[in-house]
Order: sequence, then structure tokens, then C-alpha cells
Amino acid sequence: MLKLKGKKVLVAGLGKSGISAARFLCEQGARVTISDSRNKMDLADAIKALADLKIEFDLGKHTSKLFTTSDLIVLSPGVPANIEPLLEARAAGVQIVNDIELAVPYMKAPIIAVTGTNGKTTTTTLITEMLKNDGKKVFTGGNIGVPVLDLVLNNESPDVIVLELSSFQLETTMELRPDVAVFTNLEPDHLDRYPGGVDAYYAAKRRLLLKADKNTTLVTNLDNDKAARVGDGFVGKVVHFTKRDPMTMSTNNGSMAEQFQGAYLKKPKFILKMGGTEEIFDLMPCKLPGDHNRENMMAAAVAARAVGCTKLGIQKTIDTFKGVHHRLEFIRKKDGVSIYNDSKATNVASVIRSISSFNAPIILIAGGRDKEQDFTPLLELVKMRVKNLILIGEAKEKINRIIGDFSETFLVGTFEEAVLLSYQKSRSGDVILLSPACASYDMFKSYEERGDYFKKLVAQL
Ligand code: ADP
Repeated sequence: MLKLKGKKVLVAGLGKSGISAARFLCEQGARVTISDSRNKMDLADAIKALADLKIEFDLGKHTSKLFTTSDLIVLSPGVPANIEPLLEARAAGVQIVNDIELAVPYMKAPIIAVTGTNGKTTTTTLITEMLKNDGKKVFTGGNIGVPVLDLVLNNESPDVIVLELSSFQLETTMELRPDVAVFTNLEPDHLDRYPGGVDAYYAAKRRLLLKADKNTTLVTNLDNDKAARVGDGFVGKVVHFTKRDPMTMSTNNGSMAEQFQGAYLKKPKFILKMGGTEEIFDLMPCKLPGDHNRENMMAAAVAARAVGCTKLGIQKTIDTFKGVHHRLEFIRKKDGVSIYNDSKATNVASVIRSISSFNAPIILIAGGRDKEQDFTPLLELVKMRVKNLILIGEAKEKINRIIGDFSETFLVGTFEEAVLLSYQKSRSGDVILLSPACASYDMFKSYEERGDYFKKLVAQL
């Protein structure tokens, strides 16, 4: 366990996890300084939340000397790992960790950790609900918005810990040893934060298995090349989920049907084959659109079962789960047009899945801040399914050049224009879909703010 008493610790980044880390460090007797490139005014709420503690602040910049002279740096996921002061600190031998590492010694219950490019929050929430519906006490934290150290600060003693982990968090994760590690899928994303290329992003994700051993269960997506390959040479137990029938698959060692462990789709049901038993789950009551949500249900069922969740807990969740806000969220029907908010679709892979979820003609609102993405994989689907493409934000010109000719496309200046135009272009039976394929930071503070504003405008139509 890291010795913190009397140590000079720098918390880099004053988001939710930074606040929680600072409080924890103070409780442990560390001398805490917080560094954030945002200024005092932007951080007023966060500073207020720590007003009862003795903490130094260095705001509006990152001062190298503070980084290089600290005993330890606790890095928040929002701060890129390659900023100059961090590189200097690393060169000076300063240990850099994240809040999850600080929590590791306190996590006594079985840990399910979820990573992947898309579907993390939905799957994490589903696992949580399944276990809760099974009567278990669950702590859920990480990238989902609840800092993991809240577990310690609130003195919680859950039966199971469920963590959602992003690649940024995993970059500085060393000692975490999940009992169950879930990879939803791996697709190109965040190339703006990984100038070294997509392999550096995948490598960060794979760090989830850094401490895995033969007792670790790996849950992974057999239909996604990169995620399926995470299991190659894995020392623990590998359990899959797939939309295909294992009877139709073969492996180097014979038929997949016999070896298969995990969940597979048999619409409108899925079969959970784990240990010696096979159980059937009915997906008919599932209210979420899209095949990707069937994948999320299966991934969650496999992970929950790996820690002993019963059939009841899993099926009850399938029957009642209403989805997570901003993920292909149905808002309203207006003049026969169904309107969906998918503001969290910040990469191309997720937009492919949202477009594929509908058979009706789509009016797609896309654009925002580009993350150095290749938009060409959208081309075929846009051609087939998107009747109007409405482009906004910094990336609108780039997207237009690549896919603009495959639909009737409009480039607009404001979000208000985009929503109004989408409505004017719609006819009964159509779908209006906000699924941006880009980050929100050019126009909004977050994807939540973008989605909430979209919902507000839609309510006014
Ligand atoms: P994450 O936490 O990984 O960002 P979310 O559950 O928040 O994942 O969903 C993010 C976006 O990806 C949403 O647009 C959602 O509709 C889409 N999505 C959800 N699950 C999947 C999946 N299994 N595969 C691809 N896209 C998905």
C-alpha cells in the first residue's frame, strides 16, 4: 500500500475524481496541492466542495516545478498523460497513479471491471441492475461518474464492486486485479489523445488484464475482431458473448459448440451456457432499440453470472431496464416522427450501430469536435438509410467532404437551426436522430449538455 502520511501529493485535474482523491489524501495525512489548467472561476464549485480541507491550489496553468518536486502525482482522466509537466515529472522519477490505484487496497469484494470502446456505461449499469435485482449490495464507480474512492470515503462494504474504466484511466492503472474483466468491443477512437495511433489506444485498454491470473474471468465479444483477440494466450477463463450460433462456428480444436462458454443470441432469446448449465433468457420485453443493446444485455448477463447472479436478477433487469440517458434515448413522437437523442455517440462505430437500429428513413444530425476520425465507414449506411444529413460544428466540412454526397446534406451554423431543419425535413414514419460521431466540446461543456439542449429544443417543436 502506498504510504501517504506526510507525503507531498499533487492532484492533477479537479474533476469529480480529483475532488474525491484530494479528500481521501487529506484523510490519509498527505500534503495536497491541486493543479488544473482551468481558472478559479470555472472551478468555483469544486473549490467550494473542498473548502473544509487544507489544500493548496495552482490554477489556470500546470506548473512544472510542482509536478517534478512532488512525492506522488494523482492523475485525473481528463488530463492528457503527455502534457509537458507530466513528462518532466516522469523523467524525474515521480510516481504517477490514478484514483483507482489508491482505492485498490480497500476493494475487498469481487470486482467486475468493464472497458471497451462503446457500451461501457450501458453494460456497467446493466450489471449493476442485475446484481441489485438479485438482492446484492453493489458499489458502481469509475468512468460512469462516481469516483472509485467514494467507496472508501463513504465507508461502503458492498457484495460486488462494478467499475467502468476508460483507456485514460487504464493508462495509469498498475495494481488493479479485476475478478471479471469485460471487453465490450474495440474500435478506433480518441486518436486525438493517441497520436501514436490506434494500437496505443488498444494497448491502454488491454492494461485491464495487467494483473490478471488464472482466477480471472475474461468476458469478451466474439463478434468483434479486436476484442475477441484480447483472449489470445490469456491465462484465466475466457467467456464470450456473440450474436452468432456457436453450432455454426469452428475452431482449430474442433467444434465451437462444445467448447463455447458464455451467451449467444437466438432471437428473440439468448442462451447462457456457463459451467455445466444452459439457461434461456427472453429478450422480447427488452425496451432498448438496436442489436448492440442485445450485445450489452448478453455481456452483462455473462459478467453478472460469473459472480453468481441468479436467473431472476438477470431476467428482471431485461424486463425493466429503460436505458441510460443520451444513449439512443427516445424523446418523443411528433407528427408521426420518432425523435432520438444519442448525444453519447461520439465516435463512428457507435453511429454505425445507432443508424443500423432503425428501418425507417433517418434524418441524422451529426458533427461537433473531430477526434481525428475516419468517417468513411459511415458511407454505405448513410447512402442506404439516411435521407437527410444535417451537419454542425467544427467537423461539418470534413464530414461533408466524405459522406455529404450520399444523402441530401445541409451544413448549418447553430444547433437550433439543425433541430428545426430536421423537423421541417421529416415526414410521418421518419426518425430524427442526433448521433454526432464527434465530441461536444466545440459547442458544449459535455455530451450531457448537448443532449439536454437537444431535448429542450425538441420539446419546443
Ligand atoms: P461508453 O460508456 O463506452 O461510451 P455507452 O453505453 O455510454 O458506452 O454508449 C455510448 C454510445 O455507443 C451510445 O451512442 C450508444 O448508443 C452506443 N452503444 C452502446 N452500446 C454499444 C455497443 N455494444 N456497441 C456499439 N455502440 C454501442
